[in-house]
Amino acid sequence: MLGLMQDWPLLMHRIIDHAATFHGARKVITRSVEGPFHTTDYAQLRGRSLKVAQRLTKDGIKLGDRVATLAWNTWRHMEAWYGITGIGAIYHTVNPRLFPEQIVWIVNHAEDRVLIADLTFVPLLEKIADKLPSIERYIILTDAAHMPKTALKNAVAYEQWIGAVDGDFGWAAFDENTAAGMCYTSGTTGHPKGVLYSHRSNVLHSMMAMAPDAMAASSRDTILPVVPMFHANCWGLALTAPMVGATLVMPGGKMDGASIYELLDTFKVTFTAAVPTIWLMLLQDLEKTGGKLPHLKRVVIGGSACPRAMTKTFQEIYGVEVIHAWGMTEMSPLGSLCTMKPEHATLEGDAKLDIQMKQGHPPFGVEMNITDDEGHDLPWDGKKFGRLKVRGPAVARSYYKVDNDPVFEVSGWFDTGDVATMDPHGYMQITDRAKDVIKSCGEWISTIDLENLAVGHPKVAEAAAIGVKHPKWDERPLLVIVLKKGEVASKEDILAFMQDKVAKWWMPDDVVFVDEIPHTATGKIQKITLRQQFKDYRLPGAQAAE
Ligand code: AMP
Repeated sequence: MLGLMQDWPLLMHRIIDHAATFHGARKVITRSVEGPFHTTDYAQLRGRSLKVAQRLTKDGIKLGDRVATLAWNTWRHMEAWYGITGIGAIYHTVNPRLFPEQIVWIVNHAEDRVLIADLTFVPLLEKIADKLPSIERYIILTDAAHMPKTALKNAVAYEQWIGAVDGDFGWAAFDENTAAGMCYTSGTTGHPKGVLYSHRSNVLHSMMAMAPDAMAASSRDTILPVVPMFHANCWGLALTAPMVGATLVMPGGKMDGASIYELLDTFKVTFTAAVPTIWLMLLQDLEKTGGKLPHLKRVVIGGSACPRAMTKTFQEIYGVEVIHAWGMTEMSPLGSLCTMKPEHATLEGDAKLDIQMKQGHPPFGVEMNITDDEGHDLPWDGKKFGRLKVRGPAVARSYYKVDNDPVFEVSGWFDTGDVATMDPHGYMQITDRAKDVIKSCGEWISTIDLENLAVGHPKVAEAAAIGVKHPKWDERPLLVIVLKKGEVASKEDILAFMQDKVAKWWMPDDVVFVDEIPHTATGKIQKITLRQQFKDYRLPGAQAAE
């Protein structure tokens, strides 16, 4: 027997309809790519999204067609998302930080028909356009006055393009399982892999994200998504913010510490989210300028492990609560958030920080487990670590145009490639990426733990631990350090600081100082490049062991 409830498909445009109807005057403020701040509201944003939908239809774009966006977080990029998905076409966010050859590869793989880009990326597109045969038209997110002269095929300024229709248009109707968005994983090995979100998964994910034990977003919040829309849907915030009617502040292309501080301060942002490298820049800026964060209440930090020192600084110096989060492009992306359960609610200082080092517990809609390599369940004792597996309605079940990838297990679980522990309270802690963990004499050393510890040293800005070949122990840890500007420290200083804080056999065999640690297009430490760079590195004592 079927229930007798209404059939109300979970479609993305219902989010912007809701925002326009019930929070229509709530502001969406952007640092525009052209320079000045721009202000609109949800009612106007919806109206212009409808124009995007109408204009795409006029241009012959249909259900299932892919429309690429190469763009920063701005109101126009949001209008494009809602307009594209409102006719059942698919937004394909392209990460501009990828190498040009990777951009060419993914646009061709997705067979995008239209490419919507910010002014910033016109020179890049001009270099690669002849390798993008599927693109019929380039739409540049600007007005006629700022439109550059360009030979890009059928190039048009966005304002002119939507200005040619009247907005008298209705959203299309289709099944909630229809594809809505597409994002390729950064792919450290092999080609990038396309994740194809559906309307249903995007809407459910936003509902999961706004819950009190997740991001706790509300109409009283002013939300600054620093994490880009091209990085895993900006963790859902371009959907979650309108869903709850929050004021939205979009950073455009400027993400240095001073620019982010200006937004936090000027617009009294209460809630923000980004990867640790962004917060490293902000905290360094605050240290220099003496700036304060009186309005900011919560900061979600994820994408890579949030160092203890960062959480401590935010909470104890600036009074901002840190929510450590873990997720993946394949998960829309939220997987877990470290909010306090009642059993931890009264913890303070180091005891609280101990919990916050964990990546947290999943919201409803994410199932989670750890297994050994043979797929046997491991105990949730907070010690035993194994392969982290997840499933749920906003988790991918396949990559686009890739059959039978073994990470999607027949049992329905997705093998994340991360290694983690689960504790008796259901908190998950990432030990490492399976590929990055250091294997010393058959035992595993967590690079994340070593890095977290090293960045606790007051002179260290960033640290990366990698395994280097050792004739006796297979691999031993090498610690690569970037010192804060103007600071001096020796290998002995760093090792003395770490001494007694980790097991003796986890201690790095050597420390090297570099000016810069390479990062991936999504801000993670590029371990593969570092391992390559230090592949012939001779650890002290290695020769004696040969
Ligand atoms: P992406 O799909 O680019 O968001 O990358 C997902 C991967 O980032 C995960 O599989 C983890 O390896 C890593 N990651 C994300 N959040 C965290 C976190 N809080 N701590 C450690 N690693 C993380």
